[in-house]
Amino acid sequence: MTVSLLWFRRDLRISDHPALLAACEVATSVLPVFVLDPRLLRVDRPRSRRLVASVRALADALEGRLVVRAGDPVEVIPDLAREVGADTVHVTRETTPFGRRRDAVVEAALGRDHRRLIATGTPYAAGPGLVVTRGGAPHRVFTPFAKAWRAHGSPPPAPPPQRIPWFDGDVGGVALPAVPPSGRSGGVAGELAARQSWLDFLAGGRLGHYSRDRDRPDLDATSRMSIPLKYGEIHPRTLLTDIASHPDGGTTGAATFVTQLAWREFYADVLWHWPDSAWQDLRPELTRMAYDSGPETDRLVEAWRQGRTGYPIVDAGMRQLLAEGWMHNRLRMVTASFLTKDLHVWWPVGARHFLDHLLDGDIASNNHGWQWLAGTGTDAAPYVRVFNPVRQGRRFDPDGDHVRRWVPELAHVPGAAVHEPWDHENGYDHGYPRRVVDHDDERREALARYELVRR
Ligand code: FAD
Repeated sequence: MTVSLLWFRRDLRISDHPALLAACEVATSVLPVFVLDPRLLRVDRPRSRRLVASVRALADALEGRLVVRAGDPVEVIPDLAREVGADTVHVTRETTPFGRRRDAVVEAALGRDHRRLIATGTPYAAGPGLVVTRGGAPHRVFTPFAKAWRAHGSPPPAPPPQRIPWFDGDVGGVALPAVPPSGRSGGVAGELAARQSWLDFLAGGRLGHYSRDRDRPDLDATSRMSIPLKYGEIHPRTLLTDIASHPDGGTTGAATFVTQLAWREFYADVLWHWPDSAWQDLRPELTRMAYDSGPETDRLVEAWRQGRTGYPIVDAGMRQLLAEGWMHNRLRMVTASFLTKDLHVWWPVGARHFLDHLLDGDIASNNHGWQWLAGTGTDAAPYVRVFNPVRQGRRFDPDGDHVRRWVPELAHVPGAAVHEPWDHENGYDHGYPRRVVDHDDERREALARYELVRR
């Protein structure tokens, strides 16, 4: 009898799982395992709670066969492999700097015991590093990447194994921590729920209207797939395959949706090639940029974190983040622009806050999304882009519904007037804070600072 471990990480599903298939091919029995790594699990963090819910759903789907162990994987995985006599440990390839470092150490530890770590597939339609320029160089700009990514294509979903020979010996583990639910926007965790909410999105006609409505935070127009994708409850390959055969698959909406998935792939690719860009400026010239700091800046950052900047669309986004662990993409852009360009704060401060609160918090999409907004990353026009929070609010929340939902002090202000309470006679009657800075002044200041770096 040969045993393989299947070590689950960012792939908490059973279907469309190439590493599971690979394990089934080489072993007569497969032991599924999840490691509760204290470096990644902080139960005060919404993302950790959502992760535990997802692992619990996987354990249910595996009818109690999932072994959960706690500790550093560099000890836990080789120990477990030794215990059950597994020659191979199968994983989905990890692509983040942390995951790559961890896996290299685990692989070396297994190797000392003559066991192997075998990585198959990635959490992406095209594995990071595979889509390169004609000259073989990595892409730094999105549009050519997206074109090459589309041309590269992705394999169809992995077929279900004929039979999964789960290990049926008695292996001890620990119980998953009891955690409170992760909130409404986290949705129900697990592969089945992810599949269902994706099918609901497809059936609801939102794919065809996606390019028209996707920028509207007041509408429920996007897929909310970022959370299931984060935990690997569903794979982007499955999404792309379903879109291709959907009646709206040929619409502009579908094409725009695929382009958004390409952003996720692009940022993972950038992080693969430049792992330091997780926390450092990607553009070297931008490291000369001047930022503010000190007690006054700390006060402004805290106002931003709490959704008390006095700019309604910014505050609505930041309050939703704290309450639900989720924020609409348009508002992620507006709030990130506000921190970096109106408050002149270096982007990692905001990226850290987002990662602490987002249920879909992902180092590649989050930190490169931040770098794009800050102008330090892959934006092709980094020196001119400053979002005007009033214009953004009026354009993308045209009736003011999103603001009134999240900022109760402005619930009495009708329509789009809610975006400019300073122009409304009763705008401040219910305690809404005054603007912490003047956007026009700070825009000029930001552009002047970029100009200095550019020279
Ligand atoms: P949909 O509009 O339905 O899009 C479908 C999928 O495409 C998403 O689920 C996501 O996987 C991908 N996608 C869409 N837009 C982007 C984008 N701009 N960048 C990368 N992938 C994208 N996304 C995360 O998954 N995790 C993060 O931590 C994260 N942080 C962000 C921080 C900032 C400052 C910005 C500007 C964007 C960030 N995004 C992040 C990207 C995007 O905001 C979310 O993926 C999206 O809002 C999730 O909602 P949805 O699933 O309904 O998206």
